Amino acid sequence: MTIVYGGRLEPQTEDREALGQPGGQAQGQRDNPLSTVPEAMLLRIESSFLYSNRSHWYPQSTVSDYATATMQITVPASYGCVASGVASPDSPRLIKADDAPMARKVYEFTAERPLRYFSFLVTRLSRADRWTVSFEENEQAGGVRPAKTFTGAAGYPKLDLIVDANPRAVSNGRAVAERAVDVVRYYQSIIGDTPYSSLTLALVEHQTPGGHSPGHFATLYQPPAGSPLYWRNDPTFFSKYPEFFLAHEIAHQWWGQAVGWRNYHEQWLSEGFAQYFAAMYAQHFRGQEVFESVMRQVRKSAIDATLQGPVYLGYRVGHIRNNGQAFRAIVYNKGAAVLHMLRRLLGDEAFYRGIRRFYAESRYRKVGSEDLRAAMEAESGVSLSRFFERWIYGSSLPRLTFSSHVEASADGQEVVLNFKQAGDVFDVPVTVTLQYTDRDAVSIVVPVHEQTVEKRVRLAGLLRAVEVSRDDGTLAEVSRVPQS
Ligand SMILES: [Zn+2]
Repeated sequence: MTIVYGGRLEPQTEDREALGQPGGQAQGQRDNPLSTVPEAMLLRIESSFLYSNRSHWYPQSTVSDYATATMQITVPASYGCVASGVASPDSPRLIKADDAPMARKVYEFTAERPLRYFSFLVTRLSRADRWTVSFEENEQAGGVRPAKTFTGAAGYPKLDLIVDANPRAVSNGRAVAERAVDVVRYYQSIIGDTPYSSLTLALVEHQTPGGHSPGHFATLYQPPAGSPLYWRNDPTFFSKYPEFFLAHEIAHQWWGQAVGWRNYHEQWLSEGFAQYFAAMYAQHFRGQEVFESVMRQVRKSAIDATLQGPVYLGYRVGHIRNNGQAFRAIVYNKGAAVLHMLRRLLGDEAFYRGIRRFYAESRYRKVGSEDLRAAMEAESGVSLSRFFERWIYGSSLPRLTFSSHVEASADGQEVVLNFKQAGDVFDVPVTVTLQYTDRDAVSIVVPVHEQTVEKRVRLAGLLRAVEVSRDDGTLAEVSRVPQS
């Protein structure tokens, strides 16, 4: 099918129009923690024009589905273009004109693997960096394999990674490219596949951080120096983790694009996964302390927003009051916390096998929470219907009390940990840290699956204190009660 369109095409996001809009509530991968910025405080920024899933620049059904395409895009010669596809070798072609402003560049992009929607961005661009990322080392390392291997087209052995930028952002390009290479390698090592053969990161000036991630490219907003920092209160702003937005947007190539969500209820499979993969990258790159600070904030914002509704409410969370922060606290952060709890209940081996199976069975398809549940159950052998019932479809949180005491045992001493759940019984992993006076602290995960759970741990030294962690993302307030 060839589509010829005449007339003026409005881009989907003018910065002015976006102000005061609830960022992230549209049905796309747009992550933009905007708050209302007084107009007088806006700095002059480079114009950019985005045509994507919310702009009807090509006929789009209200029900999205996967397709491949070849796109030709003609722009004024002083502008550049990135799009959801691989640029042809001779792209862009220059069309000269006697009158210089009439000169044009013709870009051609091919999407050879299925995409959920097509997008392009037009702005002034310079090439900042370009890498070929090989995944051979990941393949040799192996990783955790699911019981079932990939069907359909094989993954790409390498990725063409390009960083283009607005002129004032070019100087950031090298550092962004270097970090992006590491992020892509890390995600590929977990998932065992890369769904598209190229990824262009477009660094464009914008008043707030965030981005937009169609297949094959990600727009990363670069707030100009001196920009007012209104987004710092947002549940998705992590002060100790500046790579967060980059890691989140790159994750959307796998989650949200290659693996699509069936309807608005399932958007957490895109945003919660992108959020959790970004958190895992924090652990990988910045270490345990930063990871814990991210999970602490994820946990707090999700607990604070719990009355806004379940994860399964999708973009309707916070919709009536135009509350983008509530939407991000539930769909992004609670979604990520749920994945972390699932990982700690099942253990890393079964969890990563489940991730690979879910991805392999869902690639280039629209799926839902039940597909994730089936994949995790197949790899772990554990029934997860109550887990999903409580954490995804429900909006209440567990209420736990905890007590501990030390008893003499046959070969020394043991600490007895007692947990009680009031109300609905949840499946909750609780991290307990045993502080010793004469040796390093030891943390253990206690899976609490029943109304009452008793766990006995043999002591390795002189016990000083028993603490329940708040740094582990577990969405429960655990209150301590005297020994019963
Ligand atoms: Zn996102």
